[in-house]
Amino acid sequence: MREILHVQGGQCGNQIGSKFWEVICDEHGIDPTGKFTGDVASDIQLERINVYYNEASGGRYVPRAVLMDLEPGTMDSIRSSPFGKIFRPDNFVFGQSGAGNNWAKGHYTEGAELIDSVLDVVRKEAENCDCLQGFQVCHSLGGGTGSGMGTLLISKIREEYPDRMMLTFSVFPSPKVSDTVVEPYNATLSVHQLVENGDECMVLDNEALYDICFRTLKLTTPSFGDLNHLISATMSGVTCCLRFPGQLNSDLRKLAVNLIPFPRLHFFMVGFAPLTSRGSQQYASLTVPELTQQMWDAKNMMCAADPRHGRYLTASAMFRGKMSTKEVDEQMINVQNKNSSYFVEWIPNNVKSSVCDIPPKNLKMSSTFIGNSTSIQEMFRRVSEQFTAMYRRKAFLHWYTGEGMDEMEFTEAESNMNDLVAEYQQYQDATVDEDDDYEEGEGEEDHNFE
Ligand code: GDP
Repeated sequence: MREILHVQGGQCGNQIGSKFWEVICDEHGIDPTGKFTGDVASDIQLERINVYYNEASGGRYVPRAVLMDLEPGTMDSIRSSPFGKIFRPDNFVFGQSGAGNNWAKGHYTEGAELIDSVLDVVRKEAENCDCLQGFQVCHSLGGGTGSGMGTLLISKIREEYPDRMMLTFSVFPSPKVSDTVVEPYNATLSVHQLVENGDECMVLDNEALYDICFRTLKLTTPSFGDLNHLISATMSGVTCCLRFPGQLNSDLRKLAVNLIPFPRLHFFMVGFAPLTSRGSQQYASLTVPELTQQMWDAKNMMCAADPRHGRYLTASAMFRGKMSTKEVDEQMINVQNKNSSYFVEWIPNNVKSSVCDIPPKNLKMSSTFIGNSTSIQEMFRRVSEQFTAMYRRKAFLHWYTGEGMDEMEFTEAESNMNDLVAEYQQYQDATVDEDDDYEEGEGEEDHNFE
């Protein structure tokens, strides 16, 4: 058994985390009381159930999940939601103070006070595991708790379990979705931590999620519920290879080995096809070529960065549903051949794909894409510009220094993120011959992955 321990923190983290559990419970045939009600004729739903669930007495399945927050509100509403009873009550750890969108409160003051209670629960869960492969953390980077306390927890876990993998689902802030001005500060301080203490980070960018809802799904006023619907579909897709039997990326370490050529460059763009809105059913079923085309499309990426402005170091694709593996392989080869300039040639065979029989709910087929693209620097640049605009004038800094933070940490975080951008650029250029012209604004706008 190779267990994963899930932790969700803060408002956003708890919101998306509990959606994730609803979706995977459904896929594995687990009802809200933890009972298996799936297909007894096949053991595909249960074969790897231990990756995410503990088996309790009476044959109940209990999520190996820890829920934390600095205020009780979000967790209260989870507890009273349809799947609220499935979580172990002792695994809800919360305070009363709130973090007020202040990273320093989450990381150094309020959060630091609560962290030991969280670690106690984490330790208890870890001790129950046969062979823990690692952790996954759901959080936002723009607020105070998921961001500040989330990264505090990540660093504590790294200290205590240095040889276990750390995967994060990190929601990056966008002014399109939020009106708290200090979010770029919180996000930059978090990225500084994630570069050092995270192994793999699935970037969920509210800017891109908003654009998908608005432009593709034609929702005029997207809500967090709409954004979270995209996130849960993506999380289900990304973890599919960990939860169901298969060959490719079957654990967190294999995923990392395939995708990360340099340790700091572990921030992934994730794409999903077909895009659907909440409650909508897909009537026309997509074909493998259509899924492949959409999955590589910039419009389907959960990160506001255009892969055509960079190059892929590596990529992985997971198709779900009944389809021909041969056709999948042909289509994937086809994309790479037609777009070879967008893949670094110094990592041969850097795109992998696989097929899982079980489709997500309400779809016949889907595909999920995980790319390590140098174009992700566009998203980091966006946050960095917003950070620098305020930091130049030391705006809002007293909220952080008031919690005992040193300005130095801001300066270091800023340069760490700028270094990261420079490293992506370096590997993007490393392979560009002087004659090539696939840089931004050189007549490639109309070109798309085919
Ligand atoms: P925390 O409770 O202190 O961790 O703060 P939040 O999780 O509310 O962090 C605020 C950031 O998260 C902002 O960038 C929000 O736009 C974003 N956010 C809050 N809730 C959600 C949610 O349910 N879904 C998404 N996608 N983003 C959210």
